[in-house]
Amino acid sequence: MVDISEIKVEGWERVVRGVDPDAGLHGIVAVHDTTLGPALGGLRMWPYASEDEALVDVMRLSRGMTYKSALAQTGLGGGKAVIIGNASTDKSPALFHAMGKLIDSLGGKYITAEDVGIGIEDLDQVRETTKWVSGLSIENGGSGNPSPYTAHGTFVGLKACLEEVWGSADFSGKTFAVQGIGAVAKPLCEAIRKEGGVVVAADVNEKNLQWVRDHLDGTEIVEPNSIYDVDCDVFVPCALGAVLNDATIPRLKAKAVGGCANNQLGEERHAAMLQEKGILYAPDYVINAGGIINVSCEFEPGGYKESSAMPKIENIYHALKEVFAKAREDGITTSEAADRVAERRISEGQKVRE
Ligand code: NAD
Repeated sequence: MVDISEIKVEGWERVVRGVDPDAGLHGIVAVHDTTLGPALGGLRMWPYASEDEALVDVMRLSRGMTYKSALAQTGLGGGKAVIIGNASTDKSPALFHAMGKLIDSLGGKYITAEDVGIGIEDLDQVRETTKWVSGLSIENGGSGNPSPYTAHGTFVGLKACLEEVWGSADFSGKTFAVQGIGAVAKPLCEAIRKEGGVVVAADVNEKNLQWVRDHLDGTEIVEPNSIYDVDCDVFVPCALGAVLNDATIPRLKAKAVGGCANNQLGEERHAAMLQEKGILYAPDYVINAGGIINVSCEFEPGGYKESSAMPKIENIYHALKEVFAKAREDGITTSEAADRVAERRISEGQKVRE
């Protein structure tokens, strides 16, 4: 039996805790805002030191999803879920069935998906006790691996960056310093090179560097810590969060930053630091929304179709143009501008509902 209880948090529509000692479940679902639609956001499994720590994280992440979906115009709201536990040792079918029951208790207000520590095979188990699961494999009726779609969205987002800085979306002759050659960066680097861009790559994983040697002929590889010093036009963070900080920003030679990594700013003030240095920052949650946009298309009548997802993903280009214009008009950072555009969409949605 999953013991489900409410946690009252101001500013969040609902936050629920689910505990089932037999199944090893101690989880929280946070529904931040459903003005624009059901709250979609991934399920994270992490060994939080306390419930408070898990609560802070799930609140922060669920709020971020509201903004991300509002800007991406997915017709969804923002939510997130966490399981307190070790993803390497604590997984079991019983755990995921219990988590599915917790999600199901929200009656579709929250739709789950993959996140850190959770794979498609885990979601398949969650799906056995709730239908409110997205991002399943194509065989199971989902939209499959989101990474190529995130890459495509990042690529069209880079076009908007090039136009903003250089007045043309021409990749040829421009150098892109790519940090992390993983699932998203691989197709992204291929697309950049196809358009005539030059890639400089860094990764901590030798297998991925070998992929660079095998697939991106002639690409320079630098040490992970040297990627910030590369003489480039665009810095493309595709690995970790908090890579734009007091130590790294002074080293950047790029005129623009645009990549798929989540939470790139060490702190919000680093957006202003980039601006002062004359570096255009493509807010991460705008440029990396291709995956979530793709997943959102699973809820269209008739189910997921790539042909209907692609134009929506390509809209990231226009979303970024709007954010850059807002930043210019209001004299604010692009990060603040993205939040303002998202907030306006949500308040317009509220008016439609009233
Ligand atoms: P991934 O794990 O496949 O790739 C990350 C790569 O970064 C790996 O190759 C890893 O070896 C490398 N790396 C780790 N530390 C590094 C360091 N210090 N220097 C250089 N490289 C380093 O992940 P991914 O799915 O490609 O996602 C990349 C980023 O984009 C993550 O921040 C992820 O949260 C974010 N993101 C991904 C998606 C998606 O659809 N996959 C969607 C939105 C956001």
